[in-house]
Amino acid sequence: MAVQTLNDLLGAGVEGRTILVRADLNVPLKDGEITDPGRILASAPTLSALVEAGAKLIVAAHLGRPKGEPDPQFSLAPVAAKLAEVLGRNVQLAGDVVGQDALARSEGLTDGDVLLLENVRFDPRETSKDEAERGKLAAALVELVGDDGAFVSDGFGVVHRKQASVYDVAKLLPHYAGNLVATEVEVLRKLTAESERPYAVVLGGSKVSDKLAVIEALAPKVDTLVIGGGMCFTFLAAQGLSVGSSLLEESMIDTCKDLLERFGDVIHLPVDVVVADKFAADAEFRTVGAAEIPDGWMGLDIGPESVERFAAVLGAAKTVFWNGPMGVFEFDNFADGTRGVAEAIIGATGKGAFSVVGGGDSAAAVRKLGLAEDAFSHISTGGGASLEYLEGKELPGLSVLEA
Ligand code: ADP
Ligand code: MG
Repeated sequence: MAVQTLNDLLGAGVEGRTILVRADLNVPLKDGEITDPGRILASAPTLSALVEAGAKLIVAAHLGRPKGEPDPQFSLAPVAAKLAEVLGRNVQLAGDVVGQDALARSEGLTDGDVLLLENVRFDPRETSKDEAERGKLAAALVELVGDDGAFVSDGFGVVHRKQASVYDVAKLLPHYAGNLVATEVEVLRKLTAESERPYAVVLGGSKVSDKLAVIEALAPKVDTLVIGGGMCFTFLAAQGLSVGSSLLEESMIDTCKDLLERFGDVIHLPVDVVVADKFAADAEFRTVGAAEIPDGWMGLDIGPESVERFAAVLGAAKTVFWNGPMGVFEFDNFADGTRGVAEAIIGATGKGAFSVVGGGDSAAAVRKLGLAEDAFSHISTGGGASLEYLEGKELPGLSVLEA
């Protein structure tokens, strides 16, 4: 069934109406400062279009993982300030999610005003497994927008979550996909339905267990699966190699063995790694063969020989999906693998390949390494959501928009 879009809503008219937008404003913070505003920037077009059309805007969003109660550390205050700057207008921040302050402020909104609710995860009902509990929060959100309100789902990074402000609220209000959600889905659809060959997927990052399902789902469909980052060591261990004190998920070794047996010709693992004596920016480091990781040392990046081999297969690809950095790019000495692979993907894109970067840290790596964002075909704002889409899972926050 067709999903209604932002244009449908704008066509129906929003002037004087209160519109609730679920956005993904979950940006990384360091000492209270936003280190990468990517998700705020990506959310701006939908929000701007609505306020410029005269809507009274209420924005729901989360930040980090507070434990279902207010925690100043996870306040959206820095996000409200940045959003105001990006939208070029005043953004009020409610002192609560759906409490007295949010209600009073929502009643006082006039056309073109923006109200950001406080971190929706301060309310334990947001992430409750109990549908009735989530329904109560959703109903409270509906109360804020009033009778002729509508809901715009634009938080692509959370559409794989069955949560009150993502899923339940859509059942109670006329609902529309925002521009960001629509764009992301279009890109992912292209990756799944019309991927031109060769199709290469590059996976890295820190959690194997999270990404094994993706490997399982994608290995039969792609020509090349490059594995680097912290997750490669469980695969190296599955090959019987010793990985020193590198990141290792022992409970996953057998699964990795099985994947290597079935998809050994598709999976590419690093042949050398940069090992360090500790997890630190100033650690001592050296490059060793993948079979020669010394005891007590940890692999924090893939080595130059691996980069060269990975670059060779990526250079020939016509479709590339990349999720997860190849090393601890946050430390300069362990950023070369990520940079090399990113540059290879950029090279392929320059030769006409369709390339997509998914994952918060991968997108942050692109920006931190000073690579041009538009050198890739698309940089996704959602890591988990894009992976689950590619796995072929149903995303509750998308399917609810279809009904
Ligand atoms: P994304 O957000 O792009 O999906 P992940 O969250 O899975 O990526 O992983 C990102 C993190 O993985 C980065 O913070 C990076 O430092 C870390 N990482 C990459 N390689 C290694 C490694 N060899 N050892 C430990 N951590 C690593
Ligand atoms: Mg991440």
